[in-house]
Amino acid sequence: MIGKIAELLTARAWKPVDIDTIVGRHHYACVGYATDADVRTAAASGGAVTALLLHLLESGRADGALVCMTAVEGGSVRARYHIATTPAEVLAARGSTYVLGDFVHDAIPLIESFPGRLAVVGLPCEITALSRRPQLADKVVCRIALFCGHATRPELVDALTERLADEAGSELVSFRFRMGAWRGRMHAGFADGTTIERPSSAYLLYQNLSYFIARKCLACGDHFGYDADVCAGDLWSHRYKSEPVKHTALIAKTPCGAEVVRSATDGGALVAREVPVTDVLDGQRRIAPFHHNVTARHLAGKRLGVTLPDRGQRVRWHERLAARMALKAYLESGDIDDARRLLGRPRWRLKLRLYLQKGLESLS
Ligand SMILES: Cc1cc2nc3c(=O)[nH]c(=O)nc-3n(C[C@H](O)[C@H](O)[C@H](O)COP(=O)(O)OP(=O)(O)OC[C@H]3O[C@@H](n4cnc5c(N)ncnc54)[C@H](O)[C@@H]3O)c2cc1C
Repeated sequence: MIGKIAELLTARAWKPVDIDTIVGRHHYACVGYATDADVRTAAASGGAVTALLLHLLESGRADGALVCMTAVEGGSVRARYHIATTPAEVLAARGSTYVLGDFVHDAIPLIESFPGRLAVVGLPCEITALSRRPQLADKVVCRIALFCGHATRPELVDALTERLADEAGSELVSFRFRMGAWRGRMHAGFADGTTIERPSSAYLLYQNLSYFIARKCLACGDHFGYDADVCAGDLWSHRYKSEPVKHTALIAKTPCGAEVVRSATDGGALVAREVPVTDVLDGQRRIAPFHHNVTARHLAGKRLGVTLPDRGQRVRWHERLAARMALKAYLESGDIDDARRLLGRPRWRLKLRLYLQKGLESLS
């Protein structure tokens, strides 16, 4: 009830110019999920991205899919790229890896050396990096961008998993940031067979406050993947909370993307229903405009000694204040000791801070 009221109070009227600048070109939007319930288990949202990749592989349109796995190496969680050529490998990459990988150095060489046609999933900045390499255009048959608020540096997850490993008394061997319905659960598996599960907010509270945000994300305003064929993300609208199946929001951005989503739906891999693009924006109504407004961070950064580009965007007082809060969190995020101290802070205070930040982002 409270969530519904908050949503009504913070409803936005999206102008065509907002849609054009924040989302970019697009053909249509839909909400949906992977038809196969087994595909949806372990997916970040509705498993639609995995369903699209499986459809591209199984229909023979792609010989492989560039995916990003949440890998655990020597007890540390890292983002690792891999070219999946079988359904099992695509399924193994389900879920969101919030810690930043090095796409240009680690993923681009994999794409360059792969002998066949590829589908590529990446963050909006990664899809842009791919699009800047025209020599790869013929090889990449579909570019899927995840909606992206920002990615985090590894120190935050290292401090968190260090705590969990201490609690378990064993080495971390597997990790998922987020699985299951609505906000989702975080899972950690240990060498002695024990597992620890927490609400995904055990990590996302800090991420949403912009602690340990990757530096490059401060200067990025691309939430929906301007250069992608399809983009995919969550639906954080209250009306989807009670749905028995979690949905993924999809926006077809190019004729290629529109055709891939339609053929995956017609072929039975995906259940999808067309919606106005504003329904998708409603589900991102705080984060998307906040993320897009680089100038707000530029102005806030001037006073805090953080140099960021000015994109000439309109900035209102509350946007500048919200940007200042994010930049202060960024400045408090140095090394792993800072992350350990952060995790020791009372969560109720951080939650209050998050509500204040969300309140500022909600004013329109
Ligand atoms: C850093 C980050 C920030 C995000 N921010 C937002 C946000 O602000 N709002 C929102 O609505 N959604 C956001 N998402 C996207 C969201 O978490 C889901 O990935 C999306 O809803 C797709 O869900 P799905 O169940 O269809 O995907 P799944 O079927 O679970 O498939 C996910 C696919 O994404 C790939 N992938 C996962 N992590 C990465 C990564 N770091 N880099 C490249 N590829 C990756 C995997 O290889 C996998 O193929 C973010 C994701 C990430 C990784």
